[in-house]
Amino acid sequence: MMDEVYLDYQSAKPVDPRVLELMRPYFTKHYGNPSALHSIGDRATEVLEKSREKISRFINADPGEIIFTSGATESNNMALIGYALRNKRKGNHIIISEIEHISIRNIAKYLEREGFKVTRVPVNLYGRLDIKKLERRITPETILISVGYANNEIGTIQSVSKIGKLAEERGIAFHTDAVAAEGLIPIDVKRDHIHLMSLSSNDLYGPKGVGVLYMKKKYRVNPLIIGGGQERGLRSGSENMPGIVGMGYAAEITQKEMKKESEKLEKYRDRLIKELLEIPDSYLNGHPTKRLPNNAHVRFEGLEGEALLLSFKDKGIAVSTGSACTSKTLEPSHTLIATGLTHEEAHGSLQLTPGRFTQDEDIDRILDATPEIVQRLREMSPIYKPKEKMISK
Ligand code: PMP
Repeated sequence: MMDEVYLDYQSAKPVDPRVLELMRPYFTKHYGNPSALHSIGDRATEVLEKSREKISRFINADPGEIIFTSGATESNNMALIGYALRNKRKGNHIIISEIEHISIRNIAKYLEREGFKVTRVPVNLYGRLDIKKLERRITPETILISVGYANNEIGTIQSVSKIGKLAEERGIAFHTDAVAAEGLIPIDVKRDHIHLMSLSSNDLYGPKGVGVLYMKKKYRVNPLIIGGGQERGLRSGSENMPGIVGMGYAAEITQKEMKKESEKLEKYRDRLIKELLEIPDSYLNGHPTKRLPNNAHVRFEGLEGEALLLSFKDKGIAVSTGSACTSKTLEPSHTLIATGLTHEEAHGSLQLTPGRFTQDEDIDRILDATPEIVQRLREMSPIYKPKEKMISK
């Protein structure tokens, strides 16, 4: 059996072996609790604060603005629910985009059930948010705007700095879920006028189960996990020390290597897009230039996501499709629908996200396999009609 080809780094990444090595002793040898007052506890505090510094350097923040959480889902909960609860006297209106990650979408629905009003701003056919449309939806009640830094499906990057500036000028807090973008493009919370930001460790090739909420000085949220008062009372519970050490080191490595790594990924991305678009009746999803360096997302007319996925699976190739990444229900992706695709069109999409350990051979193998898979599935497809034939009718 040939090695599996893995081109789904956006959904999960392996832990970098260098990170794992550094984490290892924190399970057995360095097991101290930072809350303890003896020297073993003191050493744990030192390590905790060092990791906080590393993360803060990575995004140009101050260490005191970093709160460790169990991952980006928790950070998103803290940012939206925590901020809404803390600031409900100022207003009850929140704005998100139509293409937010499922965690933001479901948190927004929860807040609606709790009496908050949520507006979802549409995006254009490339998945970009129009700042003017966003501005028109601001009301005197608006307290928070949450827009993902880049989309985790189609890879479109938003004008984050402009959104943040607008929010700041209007006295509204700006939150961004930066999980899809972190480690691929430089993020600077000061340049980008970001007040709250969610990060996950795994997207930096650190372990799963740890993340960060960046919270700018003077911004406040209500804690959602109450207990012993860790993380300045904002997120109680014994700190996940191996995870935190891992995330800190993962951020340090990424900061050093990101430029070179993103250049490599961009080459893979551009080759994938170019060669896949040579297949008849295929189209690029997302923005042609304002897109993440790791993201190739192509739609093939007349195909169906499940069949596409299974055909690649048979060949030992792991990819994603235009079906919702969050469930096995084969619902079409809300992101692709928001960019104007029909349900049928959204289903025939292929998302390829190479990463740190991708090699030329992986790209060769998927590019060898795809034309044949697409052709075979189209021959069986009741819905596919080649464009050329339609024109000649
Ligand atoms: N936001 C985005 C954009 C994501 O892709 C993910 C999943 N990796 C999350 C949030 C949730 O992250 P976690 O699994 O760390 O909670």
